[in-house]
Amino acid sequence: MRFARRTRYLTRALLSPFSRTRLPLFSPSPLAGEGGESSRRVRGETSTRGKPYPSPVGEAPTPSPARGEGQDILLTFDDGPHAEHTPAVLDRLAAFGITAAFFLVGNRVTDPALVESIAAAGHTLGNHTFAHAIPCWSDIALSRVDVRKCQELVPDATLFRPPMGRLTPGLWLAARRLKLQCVNWSLDSNDWRCRSEADAMQCAKEVLELVRPGDIVLFHDDHRWIAPILDVVLPELSRRVSFRRRSL
Ligand SMILES: [Zn+2]
Repeated sequence: MRFARRTRYLTRALLSPFSRTRLPLFSPSPLAGEGGESSRRVRGETSTRGKPYPSPVGEAPTPSPARGEGQDILLTFDDGPHAEHTPAVLDRLAAFGITAAFFLVGNRVTDPALVESIAAAGHTLGNHTFAHAIPCWSDIALSRVDVRKCQELVPDATLFRPPMGRLTPGLWLAARRLKLQCVNWSLDSNDWRCRSEADAMQCAKEVLELVRPGDIVLFHDDHRWIAPILDVVLPELSRRVSFRRRSL
């Protein structure tokens, strides 16, 4: 079974025409939060699109002139917070000095302290709706309520990701009203499909094979296999790219 897969441009465009799935090449980043929240991303070496990373050499990389190709990798975690697995993810990210984006589901926020600890670690918070339901395309009012309810529980959220990546007009409008930046992904790890240690290893291997500069990688922090996946992915990513603190 294969896990990780690159999201096809056409699929992304059809599902979420207004969502960002590539990172910008130059700052200022459109991921910047209204409140000027700072975060870090994995900063990659210059690479030709589709080619593996070169080994890290010496100083900071020069930005690639390729249009639309960012130099950073943004790791994102959906469907949390989870009392057990989210702290495990936070520990692993902290060990490598990486910050990521966490898209939280409102009805899973049972411990506000956990949300605070995500933000306190420098990660960016995202709104992933309250109920994680996919509304129908004409459902404007319900979508608005769903997104606003989540925002009340995660007031520092500056990003928005629709459930399953399907951005309906209602969700887009709701996010826009709250000044949330819609962010989808370009590389789906499909980590939630893992059922065994072997699956987790396979998933991690595929992510490392496919990931390239500019990617927004989708993981989930609500299952037990995310920790072993990160235990493989993070050391290898940190070997390939230089990690540095930067403001979004
Ligand atoms: Zn989700």
